[in-house]
Amino acid sequence: AEADIGLIGLGTMGSALALNIAEKGFPIAVYNRTAQVTRDFHAGAGELATRVIPTESLEELVAAIKPPRAIILMVPAGSPVDQQIEALAPLLDPQDLVIDAGNANFHDTNRRAEAGLPMRFLGVGVSGGEDGARHGPSIMGGGAQQDWDRIAPILTAIAARAEDGTPCATRMGEAGAGHFVKAVHNGIEYADMQMIAEIYGLMRDGMGLPADRIAGIFERWNDGPLQSYLIEISGKVAHAPDPHSGQPMLDVILDRAGQKGTGRWTAIEAQHLAAPIPVIEAAVMARNVSARLAERKAAEERFGPAPQPCDLDEDLLERALIAGKILCYAQGFAMISAASEAFGWSLPLPDIARVWRAGCIIRSTMLNDMAEALTENPGRNLIMAPGFASRIEEALPALRRVVSEGLAQGHPLPALAQGLTWFDMMRTARGTANMIQAQRDFFGAHGFERLDGRDDPHGPWGA
Ligand code: NDP
Repeated sequence: AEADIGLIGLGTMGSALALNIAEKGFPIAVYNRTAQVTRDFHAGAGELATRVIPTESLEELVAAIKPPRAIILMVPAGSPVDQQIEALAPLLDPQDLVIDAGNANFHDTNRRAEAGLPMRFLGVGVSGGEDGARHGPSIMGGGAQQDWDRIAPILTAIAARAEDGTPCATRMGEAGAGHFVKAVHNGIEYADMQMIAEIYGLMRDGMGLPADRIAGIFERWNDGPLQSYLIEISGKVAHAPDPHSGQPMLDVILDRAGQKGTGRWTAIEAQHLAAPIPVIEAAVMARNVSARLAERKAAEERFGPAPQPCDLDEDLLERALIAGKILCYAQGFAMISAASEAFGWSLPLPDIARVWRAGCIIRSTMLNDMAEALTENPGRNLIMAPGFASRIEEALPALRRVVSEGLAQGHPLPALAQGLTWFDMMRTARGTANMIQAQRDFFGAHGFERLDGRDDPHGPWGA
């Protein structure tokens, strides 16, 4: 046995991760269900092939790894992971470690961790897509500290590095904590993408800008407070021409968004936790609406198209997006706090902001400031951190103007509008739930608390 680690599943992510591991100097044994994929992978590994040990059975894989062994699973989430664990069980020693690095639902990871598996087990979320996996992903781990410590030298070696040199690989807590943080990351990713798409819609349909002008605006924004991977690639995709027609690439892409469900998991989990994340929920909803293309076409024929020209400018849109982004992240971090309490985890909020600074899809310079604000006071909602409160105050009028003008002119802005509404609710000490409580008491005698503190929890409804 000569490999430091093994890997099962040489798909998009697994093959990239295996090359990254080999490149950092760790000999790696690899196995794939379809053996030809393993052979092709080894043949295509170039000079790294000397550090890649291709194997064609699980027995061969296990024999190639130095004990106590560590094996990464990079297969689709769900039953393929259970199948692999089951197939490995008779071949592994109790001290051997299986690392599920796919996008598992954290409830599954909790279940596996609690099931008393015959081997050690970690659930590790990996973000950054194929390029991240190959050159430095962001890694969110969950499981026992001792198991994390064993594998941490490899995971920190392959992880992205933040500007200050810190590797973006952190243990978030027990069992499913890493996969939970990865799910919230993906929820925020959905929301960031949706808000950018809404702003793009205002530029395209409200301001009548062609794709190359829009590309230029995103490029400029990427030099300012909005600097992020998603703004950068939005500029690039808006700039690219279609090789077939020469038209802007964006103009020939069907407006029906796909999803693998991790954003949906976040929204579902937020409902279980009673954690308000309306911007993320709106983003999931928007993907679901986008999928209903035929219905949308029929409704447009019946009612006519919605969007009309808008009186907006580049500066307003930039500030609105800054505000929307802060509000969205404030919700995401608050959900993580809620989960920490509900599951008895001590999820390290500042470390989560730090681990997202590089390697992952939502990486951005603003996360540096968020990490600082959360380090100062992890228990405080981000909107109350002085640096962010002042930014919100500065950008809020623009968000309000963009949302009100956009909605007035028929532009759907689900995520931006939800961010604004959530913020306006949060800053309203006297809301309208007194009406809800009165109704609940009227039809169900549910009782209410009174402002004057008097102990008289029912209204005179029957009188
Ligand atoms: P791919 O579809 O590219 O690869 C899947 C791999 O799993 C293949 O090697 C396939 O083998 C193997 N596989 C599929 N089903 C089984 C099974 N039942 N038993 C054993 N092996 C199986 O997927 P990705 O690499 O994109 O994704 C892998 C994991 O990483 C998923 O959980 C995904 O959600 C997650 N992920 C993906 C990201 C991405 O950007 N693509 C980003 C972050 C996480 P075979 O060749 O035989 O079909």
